[in-house]
Amino acid sequence: MNVANEKRLAARATALGESASAAVFPELADLALSDSPLVRRLAASALGKLAGIVDSAASVDLLRPLLADAHPQVRQYTAKALGAFGVAAAAALPDLRDLFRNPAEKDYVKRSVAAAGQTIREAVRIAERTAVHRCGRCSRTVAADEFARSQKAFQRTYCDACFDEVFLQRRNWETQVELNKNIQAANGTLVQSEGERIIAEELAALGIAFRYDNRFRIIKGYAIRPDFYLPEFDLYIEYWGMADNLDYQVGMLEKKKLYQQAGKKLVSLYAHDKPRLRESLREKLASHARLPSPPDQEKNPA
Ligand SMILES: [Zn+2]
Repeated sequence: MNVANEKRLAARATALGESASAAVFPELADLALSDSPLVRRLAASALGKLAGIVDSAASVDLLRPLLADAHPQVRQYTAKALGAFGVAAAAALPDLRDLFRNPAEKDYVKRSVAAAGQTIREAVRIAERTAVHRCGRCSRTVAADEFARSQKAFQRTYCDACFDEVFLQRRNWETQVELNKNIQAANGTLVQSEGERIIAEELAALGIAFRYDNRFRIIKGYAIRPDFYLPEFDLYIEYWGMADNLDYQVGMLEKKKLYQQAGKKLVSLYAHDKPRLRESLREKLASHARLPSPPDQEKNPA
């Protein structure tokens, strides 16, 4: 390209940048493909100046390949221009990151790239904060904190009211299976799971008095299992039968915390203990209390 022609196109690109008109986009798109790096740089720069006026998506699509331009100044001005498009340029963030991390890249390019990246990321953050989210159940607009809570728990958008309902429904369904059980231990105690039956029978076999609380309680919003209380030892036994259920795990931790805060002794048994639940129970009890000697040896059948 001869110098006169280059000067003419450069002046044209600069003028289009000042035009404040969306109609100049096709002409700028042509100039962005010019043989002259000066013209390409000025075309990129002009697009940045027209951010908010020209079509954002089309402009970002046009600019992104220019980040790989052979001329550092074209890359630099392209980065600056992309920054002006804010959220619309979010797709260019990985390209900008690559440029920034490239050890061969010039420092002045990196500075522009870093500034553009920061501007775009901040714009994205603001857009996320101000985005309007609607409840997936009742369509009500949900506040930012409701959105965050429900996304975290369900990866769905629910308002607080629907969140609570969905949460309860899910928990009820998950606990229903256990709740519906009514198992009679050999000593007549009605318990709610196989594990609890074994514990009740083992305690009876050991001659240890116990109180079994078969109420299913909700503490601090968490489903809480029944427990055994051993008055002689002032000790509680919990059989955590659904420890693979996440909501249950949270309830479990909450309840353990409550025991701890109340200074209660707690023996925890888990579903994975079940194959040798009697042995586990004896071992864990023995670490808290002196167990009576095995009743079988003392028993006088008369
Ligand atoms: Zn709702």
